[in-house]
Amino acid sequence: MKLYIVLVISGLAFASQALRAEEAAEPKPTATPEREVITKSFRAEDSKFSFTIDSSAAPDLTEWAETELAPVVREWYPRIVKLLPSEGYQAPTNITIRFRTDLGRTPASASGSRINCNADWFRRNLKGEARGSVVHEMVHVVQQYGRARRNSPNAARTPGWLVEGIADYIRWFLYEPESKGAEITARNLARAKHDASYRITGNFLNWVTQTYDNTIVARLNTAAREGKYAEDLWKDYTGKPLTELGEEWKRGHETRLAAATLNSLNEDEKKAGWKLLFNGKNLDGWRNFKTNTVRPGWQVKDGTLVCADPKNAGDLCTEEKFDWFEFELEYNITPAGNSGIMFHVTDEGRAAWATGPEVQLEDNAAAKDPQRCGWLYGLYQPPDDPKTGKPLDATKPAGEWNKVRLVITPEKCEHYVNGVKYFEYVLGSEDFNARVARSKFGRMPLFAKSTSGYVVLQGDHGQISFRNIRIRPIQAKA
Ligand SMILES: [Zn+2]
Repeated sequence: MKLYIVLVISGLAFASQALRAEEAAEPKPTATPEREVITKSFRAEDSKFSFTIDSSAAPDLTEWAETELAPVVREWYPRIVKLLPSEGYQAPTNITIRFRTDLGRTPASASGSRINCNADWFRRNLKGEARGSVVHEMVHVVQQYGRARRNSPNAARTPGWLVEGIADYIRWFLYEPESKGAEITARNLARAKHDASYRITGNFLNWVTQTYDNTIVARLNTAAREGKYAEDLWKDYTGKPLTELGEEWKRGHETRLAAATLNSLNEDEKKAGWKLLFNGKNLDGWRNFKTNTVRPGWQVKDGTLVCADPKNAGDLCTEEKFDWFEFELEYNITPAGNSGIMFHVTDEGRAAWATGPEVQLEDNAAAKDPQRCGWLYGLYQPPDDPKTGKPLDATKPAGEWNKVRLVITPEKCEHYVNGVKYFEYVLGSEDFNARVARSKFGRMPLFAKSTSGYVVLQGDHGQISFRNIRIRPIQAKA
């Protein structure tokens, strides 16, 4: 038996228009004789636009399409048409949305004035992304950028990332901003490129809109539809080339994300035993060497611990003593700057460096001290890098943040700069003691003798900022 049903939508939400589906007027199909033809039609904006939703291939989605999808289509198609106008252009007025079972892994697609929805994918995403995906496809129906090239072989092709980026900008930032589905997070930051397409480009377009030109999407759309898209347009509209805009946008996300996790520990890190040595707000837990106060050269600025006035700073010690530990910090040094991290510092020496070994910090490019960043001062340096013939150097230039990681245990000590291991050594070993004896520290009887002490930041020759200073005490093996 062949059954044809035309579902009549009535009530205020629809224009009470029920159109018989094309199929219903055609000779009875033989391929799917048992299938009911289920369509519903409605109009929007004083009947300017008419829509048909065909759920014949997915009768179970009929009710959802009627109550959840149709109102979105009715409201948003005319809105998208208004958002993307251009002179003399008439967006399609008869739109068909059809559920299909032959789309493979594609959730939805658009072609001309038809939108195809993957029934299986929609069933799984009714509460999530289903409606938004139709908004995205409606943008494509309105865009019609292909027309320019069909009409003129010389028309410029609009890059795919922009076509999809505009669709996702409208979807994620205008239709459903509350879902925050196109945010740049720590997880996708590495993929944050302005031309990465879809929601990432959508995020970029939203940023350019808010930062430079709130009409830029409409202007780019006009150019694309007329076959006149060119990268120079970005500079015309914003004063900056596209790549520069992309870099500025990405840097903004990097700064924001770094600030959100600055000087904090997540649950996993807390469980692993990490402790913050700097809280980002004040100098709690720190004091100058052999005092109970902190000199004014040390300041807290924007969540960083800054040696702002090296002439009035001095060495800054933790109040707590540590024996064996893993330690991390990030530093940002000024050109030609020089500083250091000492450990196992005690109050017995004349200066902090008289007892504690120092991990050198400096601007390798311009500082005068031949001891380079990450080296154990006067004692250990990394092997030569075959590419340069000089000792391995993993530092970033002055003005950028660098990360230092130290592992200090009785079995071995390790130094890392920006994730690159420099060397390892054993405190008090024959090799270590021989190197000390050959160095200027050979004349200091207390040097590297204590197996516990303060961690110290050197503050006397150059401006430097620190952040994310943290330590994970390690129990010595029995
Ligand atoms: Zn698309």
